[in-house]
Amino acid sequence: MSTFNQLGLHPSLTEAVASENFTKPYPIQAEGIPAVLGGGDVLGIAKTGSGKTASYVLPLLHRLLQPEARRGKDLAGPSVLVLVPTRELAQQVRAVFELFIVSLPDRIKSLAVFGGVSINPQMQALRNVDILIATPGRLIELEEKNAVKLTSINTLVLDEADKMLNLGFKDEIDAILALLPASEKRQNLLFSATLSDDLSSVNQI
Ligand code: AMP
Repeated sequence: MSTFNQLGLHPSLTEAVASENFTKPYPIQAEGIPAVLGGGDVLGIAKTGSGKTASYVLPLLHRLLQPEARRGKDLAGPSVLVLVPTRELAQQVRAVFELFIVSLPDRIKSLAVFGGVSINPQMQALRNVDILIATPGRLIELEEKNAVKLTSINTLVLDEADKMLNLGFKDEIDAILALLPASEKRQNLLFSATLSDDLSSVNQI
């Protein structure tokens, strides 16, 4: 697999990728994009700089462009949840989604929420969000305030999962997993720079 055109992505996405001068998929993208499109769970061992973000952003946008993903969307909550350890990563991941969203024919809405800033603007911005990128603590606060429902999530991404565990987010992650549809009813994507025993202790991802 040596070009983006061979990966099965929507033509708007292959055009967007070309206009960003992504000439060739990085290895994690060549392997990861078809795996995510295939619908199964994916474990990616990848550091920052490997291109891991686009390896899930592109296939998830592809799925959101399918007609069935648009039906009834305004009534439901977000369908994609990306959990990240830090505000910086939340903003970076959203920027990668937005980089491609701007060239797409459908309106797809992404939002990053994180702690350390006022919660009210985030509560208001949550309306009609398709893709929610969140740090665990703030997501729980928003859920407790009934600002977001997580019952419509069909794809969960844990990005920098090892860092989330190192920062002590395990209890929050478990609490969030309990609010999502059952594990077998969603696609689970886990990215980590290292693979440790701790990761398998994240309950039933
Ligand atoms: P990441 O590992 O996801 O943080 O991505 C690292 C950097 O590589 C980002 O600045 C991306 O814009 C860039 N990048 C990702 N995939 C490609 C690609 N296939 N070709 C060129 N640049 C890329």
